[in-house]
Amino acid sequence: MFCPTCHEGVMRESARTYEVHVTAYPNPVTVRVTGVPALLCGSCGDVMFRGDTAERAELLASRVLVERGFRVGGVLRLARKTLGYRASDLAGLLGVANETVSRWENDHFAVDPATWVTLGSLIADELGGDRETLNRLAAARESRVPTDCEIAFDRPHREAEIIDLFAAKQLYGQQQLSNAAPAQRQPAAAPAPVSLTLDSMSG
Ligand SMILES: [Zn+2]
Repeated sequence: MFCPTCHEGVMRESARTYEVHVTAYPNPVTVRVTGVPALLCGSCGDVMFRGDTAERAELLASRVLVERGFRVGGVLRLARKTLGYRASDLAGLLGVANETVSRWENDHFAVDPATWVTLGSLIADELGGDRETLNRLAAARESRVPTDCEIAFDRPHREAEIIDLFAAKQLYGQQQLSNAAPAQRQPAAAPAPVSLTLDSMSG
């Protein structure tokens, strides 16, 4: 493919650093994600990242900022947009008013630590192709009355599987439930080995 900028050079596979900038007081913060697959023009040097590659780099940057407890509105906004949520989507997931998300993002209120941990879990799930946190949030919102259920002691299980068993019992009754195999889980994809370097985050 020819370069869309100079129309002369041929784009070839390369790896480049992807920079994510976050508005923060007193100084903006930059996360540099190194080794990101890119297309490089052999003539003018223009660099292109594929959309899904850029999205993953932004998720990795969001995760490192959230996990380091950089609890400011700019990071929340970055994480929310990278996850593909509107402010109202995130408000609905967390069970808060839309205005609350807006106030967090504009640093009128600090995000509370429990919400911050949830945000980190949502990002980690997205990177791993998982829905565990979404399932937990959905279950917490529904607040069902529990029925009897069965879990295996000797294998890892997840909240989602227990909830599935509740649903199965309501549909089929106790007998089928005790014979039912737990839902199979797809192993999460291993994260790509992308290294992160942080700027303006010392101390
Ligand atoms: Zn070019």
